[in-house]
Parts: sequence; structure tokens; C-alpha cells
Amino acid sequence: MYLPDFEYFTPDSVEEACQLLSKYGPKAMAIAGGTDIVVKMKKEVLAPEILVSIGHLPELKKIEYVPGKGVVIGAGVTHNEVQNSKILQEKYLSVCEAAHQMANNQVRNLGTIGGNISNAVPSADMPPILIALDTTVKIVGSKKERTLPLEDVFKGPNQTVLEHDELITEFVIPDGSFTGSTYLKFGLRASGALAVVGVAASVQMDGGVIKDARIVLGAVSPVPLRAKEAENLLKGKQASEELFEEAGVIASGECRPISDIRASAEYRRDMVRVFTRRALLKAVNEGHV
Ligand SMILES: Cc1cc2nc3c(=O)[nH]c(=O)nc-3n(C[C@H](O)[C@H](O)[C@H](O)COP(=O)(O)OP(=O)(O)OC[C@H]3O[C@@H](n4cnc5c(N)ncnc54)[C@H](O)[C@@H]3O)c2cc1C
Repeated sequence: MYLPDFEYFTPDSVEEACQLLSKYGPKAMAIAGGTDIVVKMKKEVLAPEILVSIGHLPELKKIEYVPGKGVVIGAGVTHNEVQNSKILQEKYLSVCEAAHQMANNQVRNLGTIGGNISNAVPSADMPPILIALDTTVKIVGSKKERTLPLEDVFKGPNQTVLEHDELITEFVIPDGSFTGSTYLKFGLRASGALAVVGVAASVQMDGGVIKDARIVLGAVSPVPLRAKEAENLLKGKQASEELFEEAGVIASGECRPISDIRASAEYRRDMVRVFTRRALLKAVNEGHV
């Protein structure tokens, strides 16, 4: 499998990268870590004539805590950099744990958080936990910039709201009220496998009572899915295993899984039930945030 010919640009800034994407239109694509795009080019699924490299841009490489705002993560930060970030380990360990469950060490060394989101693959590991923590996304284009809740970015499998000349530049996990969060991934191997089901949960506890909760499901619908009926069941109730089991049953009814080579729809639904219960228990009992 050889790569087809392409031209390669290494802009000095996000602005220049967006100008290049705008100038060359659909024949140009951004490349960050290349762990997805290069595989697709080798398989002849994609054939961009021009690649615009963005993974090296310092603007996209930061992880910083801004008091009153939250943790800002540049889109070019790799999964290993997320996993090893002291700031994230202290503030949102669940995000580090999600990054650790991705792929293998080689892919985590190259693959970026921006690439993981822009791909919009239903089984992707980072969207559920970031949505559970109410993350926003900054999108910059050649003519405008905008900020959106991450959950509004996905339109369908491999489809986002990004326009051709737009790049994700940063994610902000806001200084929020969640007292605990977690991401549990169920794959067919202990490591290096895509999610059959991924469940993220975040909770805001007041003593033993759940004031607020989010449950976000991955790999069981065309886009990452908030299980809102299950979330509503939890609000204002005393935390208990029975309540979490009930939430799991409701979440399994809310998801829209498909049957594929990795699992049947029925099996995925049942794993949503099991992993929702486990994720809620972990978020409440081990509270990482
Ligand atoms: C062996 C293997 C195992 C994998 N396992 C997993 C796994 O367990 N879980 C999982 O979620 N994924 C997995 N992946 C998928 C992939 O590695 C990740 O999604 C990775 O985060 C992609 O990031 P990247 O920087 O390499 O993206 P790239 O390949 O560089 O780009 C992917 C797409 O995103 C676009 N893009 C990249 N950055 C931006 C940006 N900032 N703004 C706008 N568009 C952008 C590119 O134009 C391209 O269309 C795996 C891949 C491989 C090869």
C-alpha cells in the first residue's frame, strides 16, 4: 500500500493554515498526527492532493488552566500528552484515563485530540468524556471564528459542522460544578481495540443526593449521545446501586446501536445498561473532579 502523490505545506500559524485550506478548497486537507488520514490515503479511501500540516503549530500545543475559565487544551495535543498532563491529572483525571484507553502507545504518541473529534467516528473515545464535562470547542476559519458546545459539533458518522477552511483550535473544559466523572470503554481486547460501547458519566453530588448528572454514550448511535431520560431520572435522587441500575436500563432504551463485525445491536444495548451503572457508581464513589 503506497501513498499517492500529494503536496505538503507546513504553515507557520493557524491563520496561514486556514488560508491554504480556503485557497485550495476540497483538494486540500489538514493533517495533525496523521494516524487516521494516512491510513485512509493508503487504503485509497481519501486522496487529497494537498496536505496542510497543523500538528507542529505551537498555538495548538498548549494545556493550561485559566482560573474562572477552565482547562484549555490545544487541538494539536496528542493523546499521550493529555494522559501525562499534570494539570489534567489534577483537575480532570477522567480525561487522562480516556486518553489512556485509546489505541496503542504509537498511535497515542501521534494522534491528537483535535483529529479524534474532527474524524467524528461514532466509536471515538474522547467525545463522550469531553461532552460529559460540558466542553466547548473553538473553531477558526479563514474569515470567522466561533465557539460551540462540543455536543453540537457532530452531524453524523464522519460528519461535523466544520466548514472546509475551518480548524478546531482548542477545547475548554469549564470550571464546572461536577464533583466526579469517568469514562468506561468496553472493547473486544484489553487494549488497542475500538470501543464496542463507551460510557462517560459526570455527577454533581450534594451529600448523597445527585444534583446534576450527565451520561454520554459512544459507539451506539451515529453521534455521541446524551442519555437525557436517564440523566433526568437521577436528578434530585439519593444515589444508590438500584437507581443506577434503573438509569442503565433507561439509557439502553435511549441508544440506537447497529450490529457490525464487533457486536450485535442487542449486545451493545445490554452493555450500555451494564456500563452506565458502573460508570455512575465510579463517578459518584471515586469522584475525580
Ligand atoms: C491502530 C489504530 C488504533 C486506533 N484506535 C483508536 C481508539 O482506540 N479510539 C479512538 O477514538 N480512535 C482510535 N484511532 C483513530 C485515530 O488514531 C484517532 O482518532 C486520532 O486521535 C486521530 O488524530 P490525528 O491527529 O492522527 O488525526 P489525522 O489523521 O491527522 O486527521 C484526521 C482527520 O481530522 C482532521 N483534523 C485533524 N486535526 C484537525 C483540527 N484541529 N481541526 C479540524 N480538522 C482536523 C483531518 O483533516 C482529517 O480529516 C486509531 C487509529 C489507528 C491507526
